[in-house]
Amino acid sequence: MAEHVVIVGSGPAGWSAAIYTARANLKPLCFEGAITEDNRQLGTLPLGQLSLTTEVENYAGFPAGDMSAYLKSSLPEEHSWLADQHHKQGVSGPELMHLMRQQAANFGTRIVTDDIVEVDFNVRPFRLRSSQGEWVEAHSVIIATGARANYLGLPSEDKYKNRGVSACAVCDGALPRFRNKPLVVVGGGDSAVEEADYLSKFASVVYMIHRRDALRASKIMADRALNNKKINIQWNTEVEEVLGEDKAGVTGVKLKSTVGEPSRTLEAAGMFVAIGHTPNTVFLEGKLAMTPKKYLQWTVPFRTNTSVEGVFAAGDVADDYYRQAITAAGSGCQAALDAERWLAGKGL
Ligand code: NAP
Repeated sequence: MAEHVVIVGSGPAGWSAAIYTARANLKPLCFEGAITEDNRQLGTLPLGQLSLTTEVENYAGFPAGDMSAYLKSSLPEEHSWLADQHHKQGVSGPELMHLMRQQAANFGTRIVTDDIVEVDFNVRPFRLRSSQGEWVEAHSVIIATGARANYLGLPSEDKYKNRGVSACAVCDGALPRFRNKPLVVVGGGDSAVEEADYLSKFASVVYMIHRRDALRASKIMADRALNNKKINIQWNTEVEEVLGEDKAGVTGVKLKSTVGEPSRTLEAAGMFVAIGHTPNTVFLEGKLAMTPKKYLQWTVPFRTNTSVEGVFAAGDVADDYYRQAITAAGSGCQAALDAERWLAGKGL
């Protein structure tokens, strides 16, 4: 029998959609993603980008406080280790995601730990194939597969992820380890300027590492970087290696010149990579309308509809502008309500 709604993805958008559709008695089936080495390398493991961050201080409802007892009582046995790791300051990304997952499960969401790798939206009900080769049928689908930050791809960068290497200044920039220290931002677009500007509030100096001699950022943003005394742009340079120590994490970067100057090093307590994001939409190529950068297109203003009636999109997979946990969660709720109303309209 066809499912009422299948949700693909397990970040804040996916779990919020699951919580709302479950409470609407639609018995959602959620494919949270597979736990594979490929997904780890790509940054697409279950529970999304938040599970790759540390403290989350800007998700409303989680002020600083000791949540260990609550985590102990609310999480199932297999996730209870999180309670012992709780750091007594608000909530961490992994904690928040496990709590959302548990909340969705509490309302009856069925969870499959696998990827959807193929879809057929030309038939009704829709058909979706998991990586294990199983097909499921669904009257409606919510895509919430998110996006992944692009990294430089250096082994040393991978080694220090979460120990000074980050792709989100808004998420991690205010951490004590970065305060009053020199920091590095890689990239020359609007995101890089935005990150550098934000970090300049905490850092002693922010080095922007850009591979060319002109910023890609819009004029107004470029001026912001050029006029900020704490931002120091290192033109025509690329990061060759992230330097660090096992205990301290990042201690600096080794830079190579793109115009033949000698290599050199810079001392820094953190490196923020801002070289763009890639939405997780490969399995949807040719099936749903996308922007030139392969984000899913919302086709109705202020709604989560996609180009196929009955398929909805929520979170970063369709949003390259806000990209926050709380905005993703909000659009997951919207997609659930859109799906619920669409199904009701069809009598399904
Ligand atoms: P982007 O505009 O594509 O810029 C990416 C930057 O990263 C470029 O400067 C690029 O260098 C550099 N880069 C890419 N790959 C690299 C690599 N392997 N090594 C070193 N550098 C690399 O991406 P974005 O800044 O994330 O912006 C995405 C979109 O969101 C844009 O349309 C932007 O306008 C928008 N946005 C707007 C705002 C705002 O208005 N406040 C804020 C954030 C984002 P090159 O320049 O040499 O290609």
